[in-house]
Amino acid sequence: MDDCIFCQIVDGDVPARVVYEDEDVLAFLDANPLAAGHTLVIPKSHHETLDEVPPEPGASLFAAIHSLTPRIEDAVDADGSNVGFNNGAAAGQEVPHVHAHIVPRFEGDGGNPIHAVAGSPPDLDDDDLDALADDIAAAAGDHTPD
Ligand code: AMP
Ligand code: ZN
Repeated sequence: MDDCIFCQIVDGDVPARVVYEDEDVLAFLDANPLAAGHTLVIPKSHHETLDEVPPEPGASLFAAIHSLTPRIEDAVDADGSNVGFNNGAAAGQEVPHVHAHIVPRFEGDGGNPIHAVAGSPPDLDDDDLDALADDIAAAAGDHTPD
């Protein structure tokens, strides 16, 4: 995608502070870090949201996130991290090339847990939750664990 800033980074046309690269995945420092070590992990191929990512490079993307997260924490001496995707514009995604944020966290840094991302939490009773679980399990189909 010619007009995608992250594709331009993959192609070497825009500079980035690359911290990891393999055949399918690139990781680089966020240009506007929320914390020291804030890193973005992307598939090299252009896909806008998670549902559009094929199994490969999806598996490679997760493997890189899994491997990088503790290494980033070690590198910046963090106490933990928030790892997540803004998946779609409604969720705050601004760059339309799927990317995981790894945000190192430090005791007393004044930040919030991932629970802080939602607007007004819904008021759901047990019946609502049962129905939601059924709907999602049906939608997940063959992908639900045995
Ligand atoms: P999101 O809202 O999840 O799409 O976040 C996009 C992230 O990409 C933001 O945290 C930006 O700071 C970051 N970003 C945008 N352009 C660049 C760039 N050229 N190099 C590194 N990070 C970038
Ligand atoms: Zn792209």
